Amino acid sequence: MSGNVAAIRDLSIRFDTQQGPVYPLRNVDVDVPRGQIVGIVGESGSGKSTLALALMRLLPGNAVVTGGEVELLGKDLLKLPAEEMRGLRGTRLAMIFQDPMTSLNPVRSIGQQMLDIQYRSPASRAEKIAKAADALKRVGIPDAREQLKRYPAEFSGGMRQRICIAMSLLQKPELLIADEITTALDVTLEAQVLHLLRELRAELKGSILFISHNLGAVAEICDRVVVLYAGEVVEQGPVFEIFDRPQHPYTRALVECDPARIETTTRELPVIPGDVPNLRSIPRSCIFAARCAEVMEVCRRDRPPPTVIGKGHSARCHLLEGVES
Ligand code: SF4
Repeated sequence: MSGNVAAIRDLSIRFDTQQGPVYPLRNVDVDVPRGQIVGIVGESGSGKSTLALALMRLLPGNAVVTGGEVELLGKDLLKLPAEEMRGLRGTRLAMIFQDPMTSLNPVRSIGQQMLDIQYRSPASRAEKIAKAADALKRVGIPDAREQLKRYPAEFSGGMRQRICIAMSLLQKPELLIADEITTALDVTLEAQVLHLLRELRAELKGSILFISHNLGAVAEICDRVVVLYAGEVVEQGPVFEIFDRPQHPYTRALVECDPARIETTTRELPVIPGDVPNLRSIPRSCIFAARCAEVMEVCRRDRPPPTVIGKGHSARCHLLEGVES
Protein backbone atom coordinates (compact mmCIF):
# COMPACT_ATOMS: atom_id res chain seq x y z
CA MET A 1 0.00 0.00 0.00
CA SER A 2 2.94 2.33 -0.63
CA GLY A 3 1.93 5.98 -0.52
CA ASN A 4 -1.70 5.25 0.40
CA VAL A 5 -3.18 6.07 3.78
CA ALA A 6 -6.24 4.01 2.83
CA ALA A 7 -7.07 1.60 0.04
CA ILE A 8 -10.41 -0.04 -0.72
CA ARG A 9 -10.09 -3.18 -2.82
CA ASP A 10 -12.91 -4.90 -4.70
CA LEU A 11 -15.40 -4.01 -1.95
CA SER A 12 -18.95 -5.36 -2.30
CA ILE A 13 -21.75 -4.87 0.25
CA ARG A 14 -25.25 -6.27 0.53
CA PHE A 15 -28.11 -4.98 2.69
CA ASP A 16 -30.62 -7.63 3.78
CA THR A 17 -34.05 -6.00 3.95
CA GLN A 18 -37.59 -7.32 4.46
CA GLN A 19 -38.16 -6.78 0.72
CA GLY A 20 -35.06 -8.82 -0.16
CA PRO A 21 -31.35 -8.08 -0.70
CA VAL A 22 -30.09 -4.68 -1.94
CA TYR A 23 -26.58 -4.25 -3.41
CA PRO A 24 -25.39 -0.68 -2.62
CA LEU A 25 -21.68 -1.17 -3.49
CA ARG A 26 -20.10 -3.58 -5.96
CA ASN A 27 -16.41 -4.24 -6.72
CA VAL A 28 -15.34 -0.79 -5.52
CA ASP A 29 -11.62 0.16 -5.72
CA VAL A 30 -10.45 3.47 -4.24
CA ASP A 31 -6.95 4.66 -3.26
CA VAL A 32 -6.47 7.54 -0.82
CA PRO A 33 -2.85 8.71 -1.25
CA ARG A 34 -1.09 10.33 1.71
CA GLY A 35 -1.47 14.09 1.88
CA GLN A 36 -4.25 14.24 -0.70
CA ILE A 37 -7.92 15.16 -0.58
CA VAL A 38 -9.95 12.58 -2.51
CA GLY A 39 -13.47 13.59 -3.55
CA ILE A 40 -16.28 11.05 -3.86
CA VAL A 41 -19.09 12.31 -6.11
CA GLY A 42 -22.34 10.87 -7.46
CA GLU A 43 -26.10 11.35 -7.31
CA SER A 44 -28.15 10.40 -4.23
CA GLY A 45 -28.16 6.63 -3.83
CA SER A 46 -24.79 6.18 -5.53
CA GLY A 47 -23.30 4.60 -2.39
CA LYS A 48 -21.12 7.53 -1.21
CA SER A 49 -22.16 7.40 2.43
CA THR A 50 -22.18 3.57 2.53
CA LEU A 51 -18.54 3.72 1.43
CA ALA A 52 -17.72 6.14 4.29
CA LEU A 53 -19.51 3.96 6.86
CA ALA A 54 -17.66 0.86 5.56
CA LEU A 55 -14.35 2.67 6.16
CA MET A 56 -15.43 3.53 9.73
CA ARG A 57 -16.86 0.01 10.16
CA LEU A 58 -20.12 1.63 11.21
CA LEU A 59 -22.39 -0.09 8.67
CA PRO A 60 -25.95 -0.86 9.86
CA GLY A 61 -26.67 -4.29 11.33
CA ASN A 62 -28.31 -5.59 8.14
CA ALA A 63 -25.17 -4.95 6.04
CA VAL A 64 -23.03 -7.87 4.88
CA VAL A 65 -19.60 -7.32 3.32
CA THR A 66 -19.68 -9.94 0.58
CA GLY A 67 -16.12 -9.36 -0.64
CA GLY A 68 -13.08 -7.14 -0.66
CA GLU A 69 -10.78 -5.31 1.74
CA VAL A 70 -10.74 -1.92 3.45
CA GLU A 71 -7.15 -1.06 4.38
CA LEU A 72 -5.98 1.74 6.65
CA LEU A 73 -2.20 2.06 7.01
CA GLY A 74 -1.82 -1.48 5.69
CA LYS A 75 -4.32 -3.09 8.11
CA ASP A 76 -7.53 -4.67 6.82
CA LEU A 77 -10.13 -2.90 8.97
CA LEU A 78 -12.74 -5.56 8.23
CA LYS A 79 -10.62 -8.17 10.05
CA LEU A 80 -9.59 -6.07 13.08
CA PRO A 81 -10.95 -7.09 16.50
CA ALA A 82 -13.74 -4.71 17.59
CA GLU A 83 -11.61 -3.23 20.41
CA GLU A 84 -8.71 -2.39 18.08
CA MET A 85 -11.17 -0.82 15.64
CA ARG A 86 -12.63 1.33 18.44
CA GLY A 87 -9.10 2.46 19.27
CA LEU A 88 -8.52 3.58 15.67
CA ARG A 89 -11.72 5.62 15.51
CA GLY A 90 -11.09 9.11 16.79
CA THR A 91 -7.32 8.67 16.75
CA ARG A 92 -6.09 7.59 13.31
CA LEU A 93 -9.50 7.61 11.63
CA ALA A 94 -12.20 10.24 12.16
CA MET A 95 -15.40 11.32 10.47
CA ILE A 96 -17.33 14.59 10.30
CA PHE A 97 -21.01 14.17 9.44
CA GLN A 98 -23.43 16.42 7.53
CA ASP A 99 -25.40 16.90 10.74
CA PRO A 100 -22.82 17.72 13.46
CA MET A 101 -25.34 16.71 16.14
CA THR A 102 -24.74 13.12 14.99
CA SER A 103 -21.27 13.24 16.51
CA LEU A 104 -21.68 15.81 19.29
CA ASN A 105 -23.10 14.70 22.63
CA PRO A 106 -26.02 17.05 23.45
CA VAL A 107 -25.72 16.62 27.22
CA ARG A 108 -22.01 17.37 27.57
CA SER A 109 -20.46 20.81 27.14
CA ILE A 110 -18.16 21.43 24.19
CA GLY A 111 -15.25 21.75 26.63
CA GLN A 112 -16.00 18.38 28.28
CA GLN A 113 -16.17 16.74 24.85
CA MET A 114 -12.92 18.34 23.74
CA LEU A 115 -11.24 17.09 26.93
CA ASP A 116 -12.72 13.60 26.38
CA ILE A 117 -11.07 13.22 22.99
CA GLN A 118 -7.67 14.08 24.47
CA TYR A 119 -7.90 11.25 27.02
CA ARG A 120 -4.78 9.56 25.65
CA SER A 121 -2.66 12.70 25.97
CA PRO A 122 -0.31 12.88 29.02
CA ALA A 123 -0.82 16.69 29.14
CA SER A 124 -2.35 18.30 32.24
CA ARG A 125 -6.03 19.30 32.34
CA ALA A 126 -5.06 22.99 32.07
CA GLU A 127 -2.91 22.26 29.00
CA LYS A 128 -5.74 20.26 27.40
CA ILE A 129 -8.20 23.11 27.97
CA ALA A 130 -5.72 25.54 26.44
CA LYS A 131 -5.36 23.26 23.39
CA ALA A 132 -9.14 22.97 23.03
CA ALA A 133 -9.56 26.76 23.21
CA ASP A 134 -6.76 27.20 20.67
CA ALA A 135 -8.45 24.73 18.27
CA LEU A 136 -11.75 26.66 18.57
CA LYS A 137 -9.95 29.94 17.90
CA ARG A 138 -8.32 28.44 14.81
CA VAL A 139 -11.68 27.58 13.28
CA GLY A 140 -12.85 31.15 13.80
CA ILE A 141 -14.90 30.75 17.00
CA PRO A 142 -14.47 33.94 19.06
CA ASP A 143 -14.21 34.04 22.84
CA ALA A 144 -13.11 30.41 22.79
CA ARG A 145 -12.63 29.88 26.55
CA GLU A 146 -16.21 30.96 27.25
CA GLN A 147 -17.59 28.84 24.38
CA LEU A 148 -16.07 25.70 25.94
CA LYS A 149 -18.67 25.99 28.73
CA ARG A 150 -21.61 25.93 26.32
CA TYR A 151 -23.60 22.96 25.00
CA PRO A 152 -24.03 21.94 21.31
CA ALA A 153 -27.65 23.14 21.14
CA GLU A 154 -26.49 26.68 21.96
CA PHE A 155 -24.59 26.94 18.65
CA SER A 156 -25.82 27.42 15.09
CA GLY A 157 -25.39 24.60 12.53
CA GLY A 158 -22.38 26.32 10.95
CA MET A 159 -20.71 26.82 14.35
CA ARG A 160 -21.31 23.17 15.28
CA GLN A 161 -19.67 22.11 12.00
CA ARG A 162 -16.64 24.25 12.90
CA ILE A 163 -16.53 22.69 16.38
CA CYS A 164 -16.37 19.23 14.75
CA ILE A 165 -13.49 20.44 12.57
CA ALA A 166 -11.77 21.86 15.68
CA MET A 167 -12.07 18.42 17.30
CA SER A 168 -10.40 16.92 14.23
CA LEU A 169 -7.55 19.39 14.71
CA LEU A 170 -7.06 17.96 18.20
CA GLN A 171 -7.28 14.35 17.03
CA LYS A 172 -4.99 14.71 14.00
CA PRO A 173 -6.25 11.52 12.34
CA GLU A 174 -4.36 9.96 9.42
CA LEU A 175 -7.65 9.76 7.52
CA LEU A 176 -10.47 12.24 7.99
CA ILE A 177 -13.78 11.45 6.30
CA ALA A 178 -15.97 14.50 5.64
CA ASP A 179 -19.46 13.37 4.60
CA GLU A 180 -21.51 16.13 2.90
CA ILE A 181 -20.33 18.59 5.53
CA THR A 182 -21.11 21.75 3.55
CA THR A 183 -24.58 20.67 2.39
CA ALA A 184 -26.52 22.57 5.06
CA LEU A 185 -24.31 25.68 5.01
CA ASP A 186 -24.79 28.96 3.14
CA VAL A 187 -22.14 29.92 0.56
CA THR A 188 -20.13 32.12 2.94
CA LEU A 189 -19.89 29.41 5.58
CA GLU A 190 -19.19 26.81 2.92
CA ALA A 191 -16.20 28.84 1.65
CA GLN A 192 -14.88 29.11 5.24
CA VAL A 193 -15.27 25.38 5.88
CA LEU A 194 -13.51 24.49 2.60
CA HIS A 195 -10.66 26.83 3.53
CA LEU A 196 -10.43 25.15 6.94
CA LEU A 197 -10.30 21.70 5.38
CA ARG A 198 -7.42 22.75 3.14
CA GLU A 199 -5.54 24.07 6.17
CA LEU A 200 -6.34 20.92 8.09
CA ARG A 201 -4.90 18.75 5.31
CA ALA A 202 -1.59 20.64 5.49
CA GLU A 203 -1.52 20.25 9.25
CA LEU A 204 -2.67 16.63 9.46
CA LYS A 205 -0.07 15.32 7.04
CA GLY A 206 -2.71 12.67 6.48
CA SER A 207 -5.52 12.52 3.96
CA ILE A 208 -9.13 13.59 3.65
CA LEU A 209 -11.97 11.73 1.95
CA PHE A 210 -14.38 14.48 0.91
CA ILE A 211 -17.84 13.15 0.08
CA SER A 212 -20.08 15.67 -1.66
CA HIS A 213 -22.66 16.17 -4.36
CA ASN A 214 -21.29 19.73 -4.75
CA LEU A 215 -18.98 19.51 -7.77
CA GLY A 216 -17.77 23.11 -7.30
CA ALA A 217 -16.53 22.32 -3.79
CA VAL A 218 -14.88 19.11 -5.00
CA ALA A 219 -13.14 20.95 -7.87
CA GLU A 220 -11.92 23.57 -5.43
CA ILE A 221 -10.25 21.43 -2.80
CA CYS A 222 -9.70 17.88 -4.10
CA ASP A 223 -6.61 16.35 -5.70
CA ARG A 224 -8.37 13.23 -6.98
CA VAL A 225 -12.01 12.42 -7.72
CA VAL A 226 -13.89 9.11 -7.64
CA VAL A 227 -17.21 9.06 -9.53
CA LEU A 228 -19.74 6.58 -8.14
CA TYR A 229 -22.86 5.58 -10.03
CA ALA A 230 -25.43 3.20 -8.53
CA GLY A 231 -22.79 1.52 -6.36
CA GLU A 232 -19.99 1.22 -8.93
CA VAL A 233 -16.91 3.36 -9.54
CA VAL A 234 -17.40 4.41 -13.17
CA GLU A 235 -14.42 6.79 -13.35
CA GLN A 236 -11.60 8.04 -11.14
CA GLY A 237 -8.59 10.25 -11.69
CA PRO A 238 -6.82 13.54 -10.97
CA VAL A 239 -9.29 16.39 -10.38
CA PHE A 240 -8.31 18.40 -13.51
CA GLU A 241 -8.76 15.27 -15.70
CA ILE A 242 -12.21 14.52 -14.30
CA PHE A 243 -13.48 18.08 -14.77
CA ASP A 244 -11.62 19.06 -17.96
CA ARG A 245 -11.44 15.71 -19.76
CA PRO A 246 -14.20 13.47 -18.34
CA GLN A 247 -14.19 10.17 -20.23
CA HIS A 248 -17.23 8.29 -18.95
CA PRO A 249 -20.62 9.39 -20.35
CA TYR A 250 -22.01 9.56 -16.78
CA THR A 251 -19.18 11.83 -15.58
CA ARG A 252 -19.71 14.06 -18.63
CA ALA A 253 -23.44 14.27 -17.90
CA LEU A 254 -22.81 14.99 -14.21
CA VAL A 255 -20.38 17.81 -15.03
CA GLU A 256 -22.71 19.26 -17.71
CA CYS A 257 -25.64 19.27 -15.26
CA ASP A 258 -23.67 21.10 -12.54
CA PRO A 259 -25.73 24.28 -11.92
CA ALA A 260 -22.49 26.25 -11.39
CA ARG A 261 -21.55 25.67 -15.05
CA ILE A 262 -24.74 27.05 -16.56
CA GLU A 263 -23.87 30.33 -18.27
CA THR A 264 -27.25 31.42 -19.69
CA THR A 265 -30.44 32.26 -17.80
CA THR A 266 -32.75 29.26 -17.69
CA ARG A 267 -36.03 28.34 -16.04
CA GLU A 268 -35.15 24.66 -15.68
CA LEU A 269 -32.01 23.08 -14.35
CA PRO A 270 -30.57 20.37 -16.62
CA VAL A 271 -30.93 16.81 -15.36
CA ILE A 272 -29.62 13.44 -16.54
CA PRO A 273 -32.62 11.78 -18.20
CA GLY A 274 -33.88 8.48 -16.75
CA ASP A 275 -33.76 6.91 -13.30
CA VAL A 276 -31.02 5.33 -11.20
CA PRO A 277 -31.28 1.51 -11.57
CA ASN A 278 -32.99 -0.61 -8.95
CA LEU A 279 -30.26 -1.87 -6.65
CA ARG A 280 -32.26 -5.01 -5.84
CA SER A 281 -31.57 -6.54 -9.21
CA ILE A 282 -28.27 -5.58 -10.78
CA PRO A 283 -28.14 -6.00 -14.56
CA ARG A 284 -25.27 -7.85 -16.26
CA SER A 285 -24.93 -4.90 -18.64
CA CYS A 286 -23.11 -1.60 -18.13
CA ILE A 287 -24.81 -0.10 -15.06
CA PHE A 288 -25.39 3.21 -16.93
CA ALA A 289 -26.79 1.60 -20.12
CA ALA A 290 -30.44 2.54 -19.49
CA ARG A 291 -29.58 6.28 -19.33
CA CYS A 292 -26.59 6.51 -21.67
CA ALA A 293 -26.99 8.50 -24.91
CA GLU A 294 -24.10 6.54 -26.44
CA VAL A 295 -25.28 3.04 -25.55
CA MET A 296 -24.22 0.23 -27.94
CA GLU A 297 -25.28 -3.40 -28.29
CA VAL A 298 -22.26 -4.63 -26.32
CA CYS A 299 -23.17 -2.32 -23.42
CA ARG A 300 -26.49 -4.15 -22.92
CA ARG A 301 -24.69 -7.50 -22.98
CA ASP A 302 -21.45 -7.05 -21.00
CA ARG A 303 -20.35 -5.02 -18.03
CA PRO A 304 -17.28 -2.98 -19.11
CA PRO A 305 -14.01 -3.55 -17.20
CA PRO A 306 -11.99 -0.54 -15.96
CA THR A 307 -9.81 0.94 -18.72
CA VAL A 308 -6.68 2.93 -17.82
CA ILE A 309 -6.81 6.19 -19.80
CA GLY A 310 -3.89 8.06 -18.26
CA LYS A 311 -1.71 8.22 -15.14
CA GLY A 312 -4.04 7.40 -12.25
CA HIS A 313 -7.08 7.88 -14.50
CA SER A 314 -9.44 5.01 -15.36
CA ALA A 315 -13.07 4.53 -16.39
CA ARG A 316 -15.51 1.68 -17.02
CA CYS A 317 -16.90 2.16 -20.53
CA HIS A 318 -16.80 0.04 -23.70
CA LEU A 319 -16.15 3.21 -25.72
CA LEU A 320 -12.73 3.46 -24.09
CA GLU A 321 -11.52 -0.08 -24.71
CA GLY A 322 -8.36 -0.01 -26.83
CA VAL A 323 -7.54 3.62 -25.99
CA GLU A 324 -5.22 2.79 -23.06
CA SER A 325 -2.31 5.20 -22.79
FE1 SF4 B 1 -22.60 4.17 -22.25
FE2 SF4 B 1 -21.88 1.80 -23.16
FE3 SF4 B 1 -20.09 3.33 -22.01
FE4 SF4 B 1 -22.02 2.20 -20.57
S1 SF4 B 1 -20.37 1.16 -21.66
S2 SF4 B 1 -21.34 4.28 -20.41
S3 SF4 B 1 -23.74 2.29 -21.98
S4 SF4 B 1 -21.17 3.74 -23.90
